[in-house]
This record gives sequence, structure tokens and C-alpha cells, in this order.
Amino acid sequence: MKEIILAKVGETALKGLNRKVFEDMLIKNIKRKIHKLGRFEVVSSQSTIRITPLDDDIDMDDTAEAVGKVFGIVAYSRACIAPKDLDEIKRCAAEYLADIFEDNVSFKVESKRSDKKFPYGSPEISKEVGSYLADTFPNITVDVHNPDYTVTVEVRDFAAYIHANVVEGAGGLPVGSGGKAAILISGGIDSPVAAYMIAKRGVELTAIHFASPPYTSDRAEEKVKTLLEYVSDYSGRMIMYTVPFTRIQEEIQKNCPEELFTIIMRRLMMNISNRIAEQNGCQALITGESLGQVASQTIGALACTDEVAAMPVFRPLIGMDKKEIIAIAHKINTFETSCLPYEDCCTVFTPKHPRTRPKLDLVRKAEAAVDWEEMINEAVENVKVTKIGE
Ligand code: ATP
Ligand code: MG
Repeated sequence: MKEIILAKVGETALKGLNRKVFEDMLIKNIKRKIHKLGRFEVVSSQSTIRITPLDDDIDMDDTAEAVGKVFGIVAYSRACIAPKDLDEIKRCAAEYLADIFEDNVSFKVESKRSDKKFPYGSPEISKEVGSYLADTFPNITVDVHNPDYTVTVEVRDFAAYIHANVVEGAGGLPVGSGGKAAILISGGIDSPVAAYMIAKRGVELTAIHFASPPYTSDRAEEKVKTLLEYVSDYSGRMIMYTVPFTRIQEEIQKNCPEELFTIIMRRLMMNISNRIAEQNGCQALITGESLGQVASQTIGALACTDEVAAMPVFRPLIGMDKKEIIAIAHKINTFETSCLPYEDCCTVFTPKHPRTRPKLDLVRKAEAAVDWEEMINEAVENVKVTKIGE
């Protein structure tokens, strides 16, 4: 039986003049996400996006799963297509729902008639289809208040659609509608989650990763790529810039007071990230920091790192507990990879007693012991470029 997917768009994004822009972007993102599964028609009509497979052998389980990862869709359903004739609608409903209605389940029917030329009103359609289903399947019962299944019949322009399963979508806004930002990505649990959260608000991503070989290994960089592949399942493709950071870290260690290693390193990371972000048309920097999680994530320390960034620094996890962050990491599949035990450049040369309340003037003074400009330029010029996602 021919199935399609009906996707509901988040209403708030679609208010006013931006509606068309958002919708076009969402349709483009859906097409990009499902094109490898076969040929589809993706069109918007009457505040629903209709995704129709054009090839016979398309796997609709895979299609539904892919659509469920597109930001900007609040809910979606798989539906069967019926001709616009009440008897046909009844017959198609019974055939389409036969599997779930073999069991003792309760149901109700709701109808929407956007084609006002259809000769039956919504209550009549619901009543007719409901009685037909109850007669056809002896095990099922009607329950209008708390049914196991709400069968929905939508009579639209060219056909009627029948479904019984509205699934929650990925939510958020279409990626690309909110500009572009650079995520500072480590191999940890937090930064991939931060990347996902900011992409959810419609932001296209560029990724920046600092590597310090031989202190950090190739496997650590591979791990970051794997994490970004998972994120790109939602955010769409992105470029990852790997910054060679060894020389800078060694110079910090040689020339700066130990308790300020981390904060100075983070300021240099921000400085370099800001430059790479600017070169790539990004408007903000994103990190996976959460208030008070470690010494470099106190208000004072964050203020110290922010001072070197010319663009806004967003930290979507700032008010979240580790447990809440881990729940999202599980949801987006990154948790297990994040737990692989490879060194990050942030964990080499860590001071025993890092300053939790660094004084900005002292940090600046300690930092001034070295002329960083040439090393920063060298790092920015030698970034490695990797494509993530399809
Ligand atoms: P995560 O779990 O994301 O690694 P964390 O709690 O371990 O975070 P830190 O190691 O202090 O915290 O890093 C804080 C933030 O700094 C990270 O969330 C990330 O945004 C950024 N960061 C850390 N290491 C790197 C790196 N090697 N390259 C790029 N950004 C990094
Ligand atoms: Mg980390």
C-alpha cells in the first residue's frame, strides 16, 4: 500500500513574512537528508509538508527515521493514500490499519476536511469510518477520551490520507535559518551535545578541534570525527578544522605560571577559534562549558576567556547538570564514543591547582611573557580540513 509522510512544521518559526523562507529551507534540508534513500516529491501545502516516495522500493522505516532527525519538524506521521471517495477511504483505512487492529486496542477517528468540496463533513467522515472499522475488527473498541490509537483522516486537495501514529519530530528550527557558528569540539561528552543544541536552533555548524600530537593521538582525532558524524545526522554536513596546537601548549608550559596554564591555553584557543570562525563567515563561537563543572568554567574563568573573543560566545549547556547532558548524549548516540579514553589537549599539561578565580590583569601579564602572534598565525595557516557528513 502506498505510504507517504506528513510532517508538521513548528508554528512559531512560520509566523509572518519569514514563513516562506523557513519552509523552503526546511524542504531543502528534508530533501538533502533523504535523497540517498530514493526519489521523493517534497512539497508544502496547508501547513503540512508532504513527502511522497516516487520509487516503489523505498524503505519507509528508514525514511521516517531520517525525517525524525530534521530540525524544524515538530511532529510527523506515516500515512496511506486513499482516493477521495468515502467507501475507498473506509476500505483503505481497514487495510492500512489491519496489523495494529488485530489486537485488543481502543481507538477513535478524527477527520479534517480541508477540501470543502468533499460531500461529507468531518463528523460524518469520522462516524462512517469509525463504524466500518469497528465492524471489520471484532477486537477493537471505541474510546473517545483515552484511545490507544487516534485514526486521523485528512481529506486534502488531491487525495485523502489516513494515519494512526503521530510521532514527535526533532523540533527546533531548520538548520541554516539561524546563521552560522563555530563549535569548539573536544572528544568529551559535553561539546557534541552543545553542537546538537545550537544546530537545533537553526544554526549551521563549522567545527574547530585543537590537537597536540604527539601528546594527543590520531585516535583522539578520529574519535572527534566520529562524534561530529553523529551530530551531522541532525545538523547536516560541516567542515572540521583541526588546529595544530602542540607548539603553543609547550610554550605556555615553558613560560607561564603553572596555575594559569589552563586559562591561558583557553584564551589562546578562543583567539584562534575567533580567527577561523571569522574567515568562515561564522557569527558566534559555541562551547560545551557548564557553570562550575571544572576550574576553567567558573564565572570568573569564563569572563577571562571571553575577553579575547570578538564575537559572542554561546554555551548552550551553561545551566545543565551532567546527568541532563548525558541524557541528550544518549539520545544523539554520542555517549559511548565520548567515553572512549583518549587524551584531549585540554588534559595534557593540566596544573595540579588551577586558579578558579583568575584575575584578568594577572592573566594578561603572564600571557605577555610570550609573543604569541606568530604562533597563532602558524596554527591558523596550518589547520587540517576535514569534511563531515554527506
Ligand atoms: P567536553 O566534555 O566537551 O570535553 P569538558 O567538560 O570536558 O567538555 P573542558 O575539557 O574543560 O570541559 O572543555 C570545555 C570546552 O572547551 C569543551 O566543551 C569544548 O567546547 C572546548 N574544548 C575542550 N577541548 C577542546 C579541543 N581539544 N578542541 C576544541 N575545543 C575544545
Ligand atoms: Mg573535554
